[in-house]
Amino acid sequence: MRVLTYLDGDGPRVGVRTDGGVAPTSYSDLRALIGEGDAARQRIREKADVAARQGTLVQPDRVLAPLRPGKLFGGGINFAGHLDENPGAKLPEEPFFFSKLPSSVIGPGDEIVLPYSGMDVDYEVELAVVIGRAAKAVSYDRALEHVYGYTVHNDVGSRRIQFKEAQITLGKNSDTFAPLGPEIVTADEIPDPRALHIESRVNGELRQSESCGAMRFDVPTVIEWISSIITLEPGDVITMGTPAGCGTFRDPPLYLEPGDTVTVSERSIGALTNSVVAGPSYGTDFSEIRTRARRPA
Ligand code: MG
Repeated sequence: MRVLTYLDGDGPRVGVRTDGGVAPTSYSDLRALIGEGDAARQRIREKADVAARQGTLVQPDRVLAPLRPGKLFGGGINFAGHLDENPGAKLPEEPFFFSKLPSSVIGPGDEIVLPYSGMDVDYEVELAVVIGRAAKAVSYDRALEHVYGYTVHNDVGSRRIQFKEAQITLGKNSDTFAPLGPEIVTADEIPDPRALHIESRVNGELRQSESCGAMRFDVPTVIEWISSIITLEPGDVITMGTPAGCGTFRDPPLYLEPGDTVTVSERSIGALTNSVVAGPSYGTDFSEIRTRARRPA
């Protein structure tokens, strides 16, 4: 089943994508639906079948991010190719995560806003795992039972802030730096996420293309690891790290500029496209903030 959130009049509406269009549900928030568990999933599946038969499907003008996660874990180095291209990185012994802020999530067609020039903003295609059932200290063997489905993520970040200033939270969480979508494919249709294949393109040019089978830590390992420390809740999202091909490690580096279009995709889940625009402070250099530093009194 393919679940999405779209703009219905003035507000969001959760729908189920079928061959002929989208079957509306009674939900405006996908996290609420996920939180109601298997019964709600079954109910919207049956209602979508009825809507398809009765011809009451809709054709949304605008698809939104599928959900705003409760917690959004950004995956660090998890592909050998991305490690090899990054001379400053070392191999993490355990799965590596940092916080992406739910406030930076945007959906298909939304704009990635560059706050300042010179931030060296880069793209990263990643598989996003949507948690369906609360998970606390789950075993590897049962971890996938806690997955609602899968979607695609673009882990946008400022390399200048991330690397030079070592401020990964600020560098990765500028507003709009977490495109997510376009739809969630439920886990029953993806029994083995290692079979997925993710790609990114900038202005149509292929930049990243890799099998999720190349992940160093797979989805069950990551759920086992995180849930041993932090309780995962329905609607939380974990992203699985990016493969080789980021702009920053090219020679010369290729960063996102206003006017660019970035597409991240997985072959069976779909494509998520966002254009890049300059924000209101784009003409200024953010390093001016250093002049505000005060000497101790
Ligand atoms: Mg990443």
